[in-house]
Amino acid sequence: MNFIRCPECGTAVSTTEGWCPACGESVRTAIEEAIKAFTWYAAYACYGEENKRGSIKKGKLADITIIDRNIIKNPPEDILNMDILMTIVDGKIVFEK
Ligand SMILES: [Zn+2]
Repeated sequence: MNFIRCPECGTAVSTTEGWCPACGESVRTAIEEAIKAFTWYAAYACYGEENKRGSIKKGKLADITIIDRNIIKNPPEDILNMDILMTIVDGKIVFEK
């Protein structure tokens, strides 16, 4: 069983629970924050790159990885079993399953 910290109160929460038993906060928020940390926050950390990358928006670079399941709605322990279906870099498909 895996645990993550509740973003609200810091209680260790089982990733299979989906919510914090101490305060009721959804730990799914933590997963969404983790995704943002690897996308938008990473672009922002590169001094203005968030205007070019880090989110999906018209006019931004199309650097995208498409996986076979919804990473937010599925249990975090399933992430290791998720399959990459396609990778797009600068709008060009560089990997396709
Ligand atoms: Zn909590």
